[in-house]
Amino acid sequence: MPLLKRKRDYARLVIIISGVLPLIIGIFFTALDARHTVRQQQVSAANTLLSQAERMSDSAWDMITELRQFQHQPCSQIQNQLQRIASLNPYFRGVGKMEENRIACSSAYGAEPGFLKDMILRDAPVTGKAWWSLSIARTSGVPDRPAVIFMRDLPDGEGFWAMIDGQYLIDFMRAINSTHHYHFSMNFSDGAPIAFGNPQIAASSWFEPMIYQARSTRYPLSVTLIASPSELIAAWRQVMFIIMPMAAIFSILLMMLMANWLQRRISWRDEIRRAINSDQFRAHYQPVYDNRLQRCSGVEALLRWTTPDGNGVRPDIFIGAAEAEGMIVPLTRHLLNLIAEDVMDWEVKPHFHLAINVAADHLQHPDFVDDMLQFAERIKDKQFLITLELTERSLIKDGAEVARKLEQLRGCGMKVAIDDFGTGNCSLSYLQTFTLDYLKIDRGFINAIESLEGRTPVLDVIIQLSNELELEVLGEGVESALQFSYLQRRGVVYIQGYYYARPMDNKAFIAWLAAAGDQPVEQEQEHVPDARPKGTV
Ligand code: C2E
Ligand code: CA
Ligand code: CA
Repeated sequence: MPLLKRKRDYARLVIIISGVLPLIIGIFFTALDARHTVRQQQVSAANTLLSQAERMSDSAWDMITELRQFQHQPCSQIQNQLQRIASLNPYFRGVGKMEENRIACSSAYGAEPGFLKDMILRDAPVTGKAWWSLSIARTSGVPDRPAVIFMRDLPDGEGFWAMIDGQYLIDFMRAINSTHHYHFSMNFSDGAPIAFGNPQIAASSWFEPMIYQARSTRYPLSVTLIASPSELIAAWRQVMFIIMPMAAIFSILLMMLMANWLQRRISWRDEIRRAINSDQFRAHYQPVYDNRLQRCSGVEALLRWTTPDGNGVRPDIFIGAAEAEGMIVPLTRHLLNLIAEDVMDWEVKPHFHLAINVAADHLQHPDFVDDMLQFAERIKDKQFLITLELTERSLIKDGAEVARKLEQLRGCGMKVAIDDFGTGNCSLSYLQTFTLDYLKIDRGFINAIESLEGRTPVLDVIIQLSNELELEVLGEGVESALQFSYLQRRGVVYIQGYYYARPMDNKAFIAWLAAAGDQPVEQEQEHVPDARPKGTV
């Protein structure tokens, strides 16, 4: 059957999606988590490097402060002390004194004067400040390694400088990189970069290298750290090992749940279809008492399902399943067929009420009007007053279209009743939007009746509202003499419930109708509940 095949294909697709979805979500979140981890590691590595560089800068400036003791002293007197100080402190390539633009003396080159630009192999930066520091690619003495120079100019044309070997920073970068694949680059005052690592960290086809830059708040010092895609992949692999087995278990569970759910769905559909074909459904009829005529003036048709093992399936369950599985339309058509066959044997007066429960989906269906008109045509000889019982829920969607359909059917002599009135969470405005004929008060409100004289506020208001809207009222689920009398006294015309008669199969109903259909309900013993024998079950 192509419809069933389509459903099965759809089920297979849903199961596959429910299996794959947790895995995709897992992959997505592990990727996010890996990025986050790599970023955290970058931040931590960059901050470690920055603090190391700040510590070096601190000792450079401390050194310069110490050198100020040699202010106004000739180079020849301080030369030895400069050499001693420089050799005692780690990091330093050299320290020295400036006079005007020239290096007056230096721990490395002695007292041979020379220009600063000859030592640092570039022009001194123009900062306008008395303090400055600069990273440089090389010096004349050590042309293959970078360095950082710190300069303090004094007002009388003298100055002191200290130079840190970039190798210390590079060694530090190497130590960090023993566990990671980063490219580091560090600058003092936008000078030459002091760098370590492979500068050609290539973007793989899937991942971009991650770049992170940090700046010192204390010195003009910045660090740029590039993590290679392999870092990201390694971090990803690590979280995947933890998350993916869980995602896989979740995915299997979800697939099993889905398969189970779909299996039940498909089997409800199949079961209902099979039950229609093998004639397991029957229409039962529950008589309605007419207080004005004092006899039975109609019935409500209620569907019953008896499985081959003799068990009945509860209507609220199979009707709900049929609605959920898109089977309510074929099921209602089947019910109409059953009714049309049953009523052929009925001996009823013209205008006997025949109420049919109409589900929301059927009402929305394009064939609804045709279905009902065909049904009416089949049973027209009996001159029934067909009543469509709708719930408030069915009126919410497509209001204008539904109103049009109902008008058309009312024009053909049918009546419209609101079933289970007061139980739907729908605004009362539909009472004005739709032209209605009957209002069936839900059993819940009837159950609230406690005494004949007392008030039952909600029920009383509903009855009053119906009178004002000129709707006929039917009390549903009336089970006791007290409830019966209460409604009768308040002018409720129609009464339905076990007190008057239970739903019966066709044969039992025909017998009941002949025996009790024209009998009035005696109400003299109103304080004795259930005085009247129950209708046939
Ligand atoms: P409903 O339309 O409100 O039908 C009245 C229900 O109340 C019926 O239950 C009936 O057996 C039960 N009932 C009648 N008098 C009494 C009473 O005095 N006391 C108590 N406790 N119950 C009483 P049933 O037949 O089990 O149907 C349950 C619901 O299933 C119906 O509620 C209706 O919503 C739905 N249903 C039944 N047959 C059909 C059908 O052919 N089509 C559609 N769409 N729904 C149906
Ligand atoms: Ca009903
Ligand atoms: Ca009802």
